[in-house]
Amino acid sequence: MDAKTFDAKSLLDSLFENGILFESGIDGLYGRSGAFEDVIERFERLVTRLGAPDKATRIHFPPGMSRATLEKSGYMKSFPQLAGCVHSFMGGEREHAQLLGMMADGGDWTELQKATDVALTPAACYPLYPTVAARGPVPAQGLLFELSSYCFRHEPSKDPARMQLFRMREFVKIGTAEQVRSFRESWLKRGKAMIESLDLPCEVDLANDPFFGRGGKMMANNQRDQGLKFELLIPVTSIEKPTACLSFNYHQDHFGRTWGLKFADGELCHSACVGFGLERVALALFRHHGPDVEAWPAAVRDVLWGV
Ligand code: ATP
Ligand code: ZN
Ligand code: MG
Repeated sequence: MDAKTFDAKSLLDSLFENGILFESGIDGLYGRSGAFEDVIERFERLVTRLGAPDKATRIHFPPGMSRATLEKSGYMKSFPQLAGCVHSFMGGEREHAQLLGMMADGGDWTELQKATDVALTPAACYPLYPTVAARGPVPAQGLLFELSSYCFRHEPSKDPARMQLFRMREFVKIGTAEQVRSFRESWLKRGKAMIESLDLPCEVDLANDPFFGRGGKMMANNQRDQGLKFELLIPVTSIEKPTACLSFNYHQDHFGRTWGLKFADGELCHSACVGFGLERVALALFRHHGPDVEAWPAAVRDVLWGV
């Protein structure tokens, strides 16, 4: 973890050597050390403290969500390459014998599994919208939520900052276009100040999501042209290509329309979310301040452990 080894593979190796992450045999699936988890816990407290004046409703979702919700949200249209769906064996004794036979022969036994009603959550806010819509009209001042969830994305990589299972903390505002835009503005400022208080170099930039296929290119351009996504980037595995650690997304009325999120007068709601990639922030801290948290700069320790 010294300044010369600014690449993904050597950072990953040094995280293993220092006992901060533990190998599982699968790229993007790692065990985390107590020190790593402590940093995440402290960072989450910092986020919650910063958002406390806004009085968000906190909801912690499990890493799985309704498959029907994921389907209706349009995720498969935009990111089929990242989605994961839980499958289980649902056969009887005969199929079980068949399954064991296939396993013994080294065949593809998974074809005897069927899709369950559960999909892996790709971003913490996806399960929220139908949950809110089911509770009736949105009040005039809008609604604010603070969420956390483990998320899955099928993007195996040697880059420790690109995991397949990772945690996201999000604030989500549902309200008028004006309310959600000013929510996003305020978090762009607060998020940057927070990362700077941790003595991490960062910059905020316009961004786009990796929409699938040829049509996806157009959607990505459109997202950029309309300034719908910003990211806070920190150099973690590369100086030229810094890592997105916080995201600031304006969905316009996409989820409002999809889920029928409306005010009492029937007007459709807009939404925006601010996502904190918890593992990415922790990795940035270890990358810049070293493997031993006791040796981190006093000012940084104070921000994280001071209260
Ligand atoms: P990238 O461009 O690096 O793929 P993203 O645009 O896909 O990031 P978002 O979809 O906005 O990221 O997700 C919200 C936050 O979740 C990101 O700001 C990031 O901190 C975190 N995140 C996204 N993908 C991963 C991953 N594969 N591993 C760890 N954290 C991730
Ligand atoms: Zn979101
Ligand atoms: Mg991505």
